[in-house]
Amino acid sequence: MTLPRIQILALGGTIATSPDASGAMQMGLGADDLVAAVPLLATLADIRAETVSRVGSHSLSFDQMHALAAKIMGLDVDGVIVTQGTDTLEETSFLLDLLVERDIPVIVTAAMRNPALTSPDGPGNLLAAVRVACDPWVKAHARSLGVVAVMLDEIYAAADVLKIHPTRLNAFASPQTGPLAALVEDRVVPLSLPVRAPVEAARKRLTAAEGREQPVALLWLGLDEPGYILEAMVDHRDQLGYRGVVVGAMGGGHVPERVASLVGQLSEIIPTVVSPRAGGGPLLRQTYGGPSSEIALRKAGLIFGGRLNPLKARVLLQACLRAGLDRTAIAEIFETFG
Ligand code: GLU
Repeated sequence: MTLPRIQILALGGTIATSPDASGAMQMGLGADDLVAAVPLLATLADIRAETVSRVGSHSLSFDQMHALAAKIMGLDVDGVIVTQGTDTLEETSFLLDLLVERDIPVIVTAAMRNPALTSPDGPGNLLAAVRVACDPWVKAHARSLGVVAVMLDEIYAAADVLKIHPTRLNAFASPQTGPLAALVEDRVVPLSLPVRAPVEAARKRLTAAEGREQPVALLWLGLDEPGYILEAMVDHRDQLGYRGVVVGAMGGGHVPERVASLVGQLSEIIPTVVSPRAGGGPLLRQTYGGPSSEIALRKAGLIFGGRLNPLKARVLLQACLRAGLDRTAIAEIFETFG
């Protein structure tokens, strides 16, 4: 029997750490080391392992991730597994989902407990990812699933998965939708399929996303925010260099009244996306009145980010800007997310 060809692309992260002389964990392990730690993999798949980088995911760049997406597009294999740090997995997996169009499983996995600790989760997560990549339901639905994250025997859609805790083992969840499937024994038990239309529609317009870096600021608005950063962005846009802004707004799409006009001015200068600081979930469009309500902000030209978490909205906005899309096209893409 021919085993499925599964390509492992290792970026770094806790899963790839080993202790230095002082006991501090360093990102030293490569893809071959990760594979060697799980001998069972060779019985499940024809594993090909490549070390792409040895960096913490907190230091990955959009350029690196765009290059990784292009690499995945060109691979002649039956499944791809990216291993990386957990810190930005919710962003990198969504970017890959926006850029990669393949009919094979594309999976991102990681570890919360490093290899020097008792019961590290890296080997188990890698084994689970390979089992998921080889599973008949997953293979048959690869296109409908898109890029998925596999952590602790659960499978999550890239558009939904969030890192919801900085240290505990079960640090990942999809609060809006729940997992797509569970790995039980050696079987994948399907639970649901993701709503893919917004991602597919976005990808069609992101084809030129290999353009230059497009820095996007993320401004999380809190109680009584005075707006000094917004003011600086309005007054010194060119010096600051940002090409877009995501505003982590209150509730269904509100900002403190004292910054409402600044937010409006900002959106006249650069694409400015309103995203729920509640972490995700659709925004309102036509419920509240007043100068800082969703009705006023939409009228003022703010782009409403729909159900996307602010971190994911930022990923999408930078991809749109890289692709050279104008404000109208960007607004249309975000509108499809609710
Ligand atoms: N901050 C590191 C990273 O994201 C380690 C965290 C982790 O992998 O869990 O790569």
